[in-house]
Amino acid sequence: MTEPALRLIEVSKRFDQTIAADLLSLSITPGEFFTFLGPSGSGKSTVLRMIAGLERPDAGQILVAGQDVVGVPPWRRNLGMVFQQYAVFPHMSVAENVGYALRVRGAAPRDREARVAALLDLVGLARMERKNATLLSGGEQQRVALARALAAKPAILLLDEPLSALDERIRREMQTELKRIQRRTGTTFLYVTHDQEEALTMSDRIAVLNMGRCIQCDAPERIYRRPRTRFVAEFFRGCNVLDATVLETGSEWVRITLAGIDIKACSRLSPGPGSLVGLAIRSEDLHLGTATGRFACNLTARLEEIIYRGTNVDHRLRLADGQPLVATSTRREFDSADAEVTIGFDPEALVALED
Ligand code: ADP
Repeated sequence: MTEPALRLIEVSKRFDQTIAADLLSLSITPGEFFTFLGPSGSGKSTVLRMIAGLERPDAGQILVAGQDVVGVPPWRRNLGMVFQQYAVFPHMSVAENVGYALRVRGAAPRDREARVAALLDLVGLARMERKNATLLSGGEQQRVALARALAAKPAILLLDEPLSALDERIRREMQTELKRIQRRTGTTFLYVTHDQEEALTMSDRIAVLNMGRCIQCDAPERIYRRPRTRFVAEFFRGCNVLDATVLETGSEWVRITLAGIDIKACSRLSPGPGSLVGLAIRSEDLHLGTATGRFACNLTARLEEIIYRGTNVDHRLRLADGQPLVATSTRREFDSADAEVTIGFDPEALVALED
């Protein structure tokens, strides 16, 4: 079996009363684009800083390619880092920035030049080598920082919210660029973000963190479609969480009653009959209007409000038992709100949550 690029084994860290990492264990495969996703204060940066050697864990092991690096100084860990702030070296050209690590290591000028040129080409900055790095735009400075970090051929590149200071359009452009660069170089990327779209767009796997714990670690589509807990479901925009009562459980399914109708939903757990369970369903999986007849499940609801959002239209609804929910479609399904409507959906789109 291949040695994981990184393993965290029961890593814990506290700052007085604040828990930043709580017995965190996970394993990252070489060449993987792995993301820590979570709200502000969930411990993402602290975990990254512990891996980088900028913070020391209170307990646990951090293995880089099988070697425990706790206690090893940052510059001996063979890791690269890109931060949110554009950290290019001032008074240096783009090429000098990118070639810095190679110069420090004593690479021959010819090799250095060739490698710098290849890296600038990789990050889309060819022909910019002579420019002063601080005069570049934010997006370009992050490309310099990326090329500079990759120059040293790190075992893992750690990226702490590197796109959050950029404006929306450049950020989106950089998301696809980063993914492309990661694939081309085959470098293991460990990325930190609070932005769900960023995580879903780029990652091979995502670990959702809350209060220093990993709540779910899965491929983007699974995290999005099959949230394990209420916290993960609610973290993703556009997910409805409804309360229902359990009637019967089987392996991988649960029969529940929701607003008076019986439905079989996907479930990894077996709550006893009579217990209350949270159910997640994405707003785009709820269908209104003429399409409803095609779906196995139908619920009646009151349409309270229609919100036009450009690419999507949100239909705010309320079930007979008072629970609110939102159905999203690419077009407005009704001329006006304040009407009784039917919602159609597939039972497979309903996911029973653990808590
Ligand atoms: P995130 O990156 O998810 O926003 P952080 O890792 O920065 O979260 O922080 C996790 C928690 O640890 C927060 O409550 C934060 O205030 C606290 N924390 C982080 N660094 C320090 C520090 N040096 N001293 C005290 N508390 C800290």
